[in-house]
Amino acid sequence: MTSYTLNYAMPDANGYFGEYGGSFIPPELQTIMDEITQAYLEIRQDQAFIAELTDLYIHYVGRPSPIFYAKNLSKKYGADIYLKREDLNHTGAHKINHCLGEALLAKKMGKKKLIAETGAGQHGVALATAAALTGLECDIYMGEVDIAKEHPNVVRMKILGANVIPATHGRKTLKEAVDAAFGGYLKDPVNQFYAIGSVVGPHPFPMMVRDFQSVVGQEARAQFADMTGKLPDHIMACVGGGSNAMGIFTAFLDDPVKLYGVEPAGRNLEIMGEHAATMTKGKPGVMHGFKSYMLSDENGEPEEVYSVASGLDYPSVGPQHSYLKDIGRVNYTTINDDEAMSMFFELAKVEGIIPAIESAHAVAYAVKFAQNEGRGSSILVNLSGRGDKDIDFAVENYGKKFGVIL
Ligand SMILES: *Cc1c(COP(=O)(O)O)cnc(C)c1O
Repeated sequence: MTSYTLNYAMPDANGYFGEYGGSFIPPELQTIMDEITQAYLEIRQDQAFIAELTDLYIHYVGRPSPIFYAKNLSKKYGADIYLKREDLNHTGAHKINHCLGEALLAKKMGKKKLIAETGAGQHGVALATAAALTGLECDIYMGEVDIAKEHPNVVRMKILGANVIPATHGRKTLKEAVDAAFGGYLKDPVNQFYAIGSVVGPHPFPMMVRDFQSVVGQEARAQFADMTGKLPDHIMACVGGGSNAMGIFTAFLDDPVKLYGVEPAGRNLEIMGEHAATMTKGKPGVMHGFKSYMLSDENGEPEEVYSVASGLDYPSVGPQHSYLKDIGRVNYTTINDDEAMSMFFELAKVEGIIPAIESAHAVAYAVKFAQNEGRGSSILVNLSGRGDKDIDFAVENYGKKFGVIL
């Protein structure tokens, strides 16, 4: 695939996907956001920009990422399971796709510094990488708990030249990192560019990040047809903020392909604070500058959330997902910690692929589905990232349970 598109029908001019999305931010920030929207709408039509981004996707990221037919897993569970290998991208996950786009845009707008929050550290590493490549400064905000859990990624960011700034309040994870990054951004929104790490935040970010990630589905659609002569029956992806899922779903929205977003059920789906299943258990509200399903208390404040996967524990979700849920185009379902960790070890043993714990949620749902209503069908799973960052945590906390003892 040598030519990608960034143009899709939704959202409307104010950033709405149906009733979701929009921009709920202070007026002084709205002015800056309008400038970003304007700049982005121009460059997404600009063939020179698309050529520059495409060149980086191919020669820097290593795109297109392959689709792998997981023969052993397929045989074991009774459906044809294919993996879109975003884990093979430079920096190990899908996030580099939108980080490069955002960094190029920031550079063209004359910004000096990229800033962002990070959960598992994958967005931080991807953004620090894009900052190094484009010669921009970089501040990464990260929860203290995640800093301890995702140590290798913290070291990577520092080597890449980024400042890692700890978020020390609340549960000290992704949501708090977003709060801290927002605070940092407000100090100088003119020279800094807040490169949001998923399809969340105020307009234009849910649109822009989706557009950059849509490379995944554009490739997958062509690759799958080449491999099998058909489109897949089902496509599955894990949903934290929802960028890897929108990335693979977007190219298939008008096709007769069933789509599934897999949310983290954590330790217990019935207890608030023990999961991060936003669409399964949440309700519409406004948070972090946009309207979407969210997990909130009676005052509309974000609830504490939890998942074994640092990249999935976010109490809201991209607004387009909320829209796709309401119109019934995408099915949203859950996988809990144990199911995901079981698949983390199983995929490694059965196919020789160590998945990110986030991605293991999607694969776990695929095999569950394969044994029930999905028997005999074809299932394409977006393997959003690799598990190198998770190996120490996984063995220390789950090794005994799943038979890997050091
Ligand atoms: C960050 C991350 C996710 C979750 O983010 P989305 O925006 O929902 O895609 C999933 N998988 C991996 C590997 C990640 O790094």
